[in-house]
Amino acid sequence: MRKQVLTFAAAMLIGAPAVAQQNFDDVKITAQELEAGVSVLFGAGGNMAVSHGKDGTILIDDQFAPLTPKIEAAVTELGADPVHYVINTHWHGDHTGGNEHFGKQGAHIFAHENVRVRMGSDQMRGEQVIAASPEAALPVVTFERGVTLHLNGDTIDVLFIGGGHTDGDSIVRWREKNIVHMGDLYFKIPGWPYVDLNSGGDIENMLFSLDSAIAMMDSDTKVIPGHGPMSDRAELIAYRNAIGEAVTRVRALKDSGVTLEEAVAARPLDSFERGEGFINADRFIGFVWNSVD
Ligand SMILES: [Zn+2]
Repeated sequence: MRKQVLTFAAAMLIGAPAVAQQNFDDVKITAQELEAGVSVLFGAGGNMAVSHGKDGTILIDDQFAPLTPKIEAAVTELGADPVHYVINTHWHGDHTGGNEHFGKQGAHIFAHENVRVRMGSDQMRGEQVIAASPEAALPVVTFERGVTLHLNGDTIDVLFIGGGHTDGDSIVRWREKNIVHMGDLYFKIPGWPYVDLNSGGDIENMLFSLDSAIAMMDSDTKVIPGHGPMSDRAELIAYRNAIGEAVTRVRALKDSGVTLEEAVAARPLDSFERGEGFINADRFIGFVWNSVD
């Protein structure tokens, strides 16, 4: 049972083809209002945010394709118009699965340029090929550093800081409402971060992105993690510090001249209480090992 749960969680996170057979019938999309006109939506896959008002509806990430009708129903339930803009925090299938539908409906999809590049071509995940997405699913407005939307009285910054989870991670910040969607740079779930090395992920970049995001926040900032319940700056700082300390330990082992196998066997992360989740300590050690110089 435990193994099944983990496999399901893994499929939810990476949007692997195995998920095509996954049954989404029982998934409920739930909304939590953060400020007037901005809500977070939870379902299966990456957390979504909806920003709505007189100028139209903006959806940040769109989970898996089979959930699209439920996502649309949840948007309607908020009193929002149909989705006019989609922003993808990164290319992974549990954050972009609804793109094709929304793109065909006429929504304008925004993302970092590497999101379009990766979605537009076959990608490798270990031995597994993740096929290119159809044209309609691809972002049509791409950027290198960021873009700012002036809609519904909000100033919404979509910022590429430096990636880390992949090479195309954006955070989304509502300046006046003091809300930040972190995408998968931040997991508020058991286990360790996912550094997708095949997608240009890099632990040093992740730390840089986290530090820069934290510097934009204050103690009142509402922080939306890529996965898991709502959070705040204090929790994000604790997360960043745990990762930083873990990197220091793994780097010290690497510098000492041991092999990766020996480093894993030394169990350098056992004193952390991060629990068991999608990414366990052994796998994370490998990510760090292959990221640091
Ligand atoms: Zn991801």
